[in-house]
Amino acid sequence: MVGSGMLFALSDEKGFLAHRDTGALLHIYVALKTPADWASAGPIDFTDTAEAKAALLASFDGWDETLRELIARADGPLVARPIHALPIGHRWERTPGVTLLGDAAHLMSPFAGEGANLAMIDGTDLAAAILAHARDTEAALAAYEKQMFTRAEPLAAESAANLEICFRADAPQGLVDLFAGYRR
Ligand SMILES: Cc1cc2nc3c(=O)[nH]c(=O)nc-3n(C[C@H](O)[C@H](O)[C@H](O)COP(=O)(O)OP(=O)(O)OC[C@H]3O[C@@H](n4cnc5c(N)ncnc54)[C@H](O)[C@@H]3O)c2cc1C
Repeated sequence: MVGSGMLFALSDEKGFLAHRDTGALLHIYVALKTPADWASAGPIDFTDTAEAKAALLASFDGWDETLRELIARADGPLVARPIHALPIGHRWERTPGVTLLGDAAHLMSPFAGEGANLAMIDGTDLAAAILAHARDTEAALAAYEKQMFTRAEPLAAESAANLEICFRADAPQGLVDLFAGYRR
């Protein structure tokens, strides 16, 4: 059912996302809209895997059994991961001698699939800027930050928009429209 790409099963502002991983594993995400402190202070005790599975299955009452089995038959513990994001276009005044890269600079939801890519290119650009301005650290950091802010902003916007369409009331229509747009 998961196939060789990525499975999205979305409805009622929640759903399943799944893909193959290395080592013949399936990686399953179960997505719910919850209060911000739900993972740490919510009603589900994630240290009790059986209880956590039962509680999550209750959230998917009436969903197809093949999808519910992605929870019921999952191996290992379930991990609750709140999704945080910095504001789109987040930036700061230069602070001498200090900079940020990767998620620390531009945390976004995973719905553009770019966070790790950005972290790696940030590191490459920072190294290149330091080499190019070997005697002027401030010039190096300013050049790096300018490039990094410009690159991250549209991807943060894309990620926020994709998150919105995946969990809006008419999902998966927005995602279907998005994928149809890629074919044009
Ligand atoms: C569910 C999910 C799916 C994702 N899918 C994708 C995808 O498909 N494609 C993609 O490109 N990105 C994806 N991402 C995003 C990607 O994982 C992150 O953007 C990326 O890991 C950021 O790298 P980073 O090095 O900036 O931060 P991190 O990977 O968070 O690394 C920071 C490290 O610093 C350590 N640390 C923190 N505080 C301290 C401290 N005080 N002292 C020492 N160490 C410390 C942490 O333990 C951590 O190891 C996904 C993220 C999530 C949550």
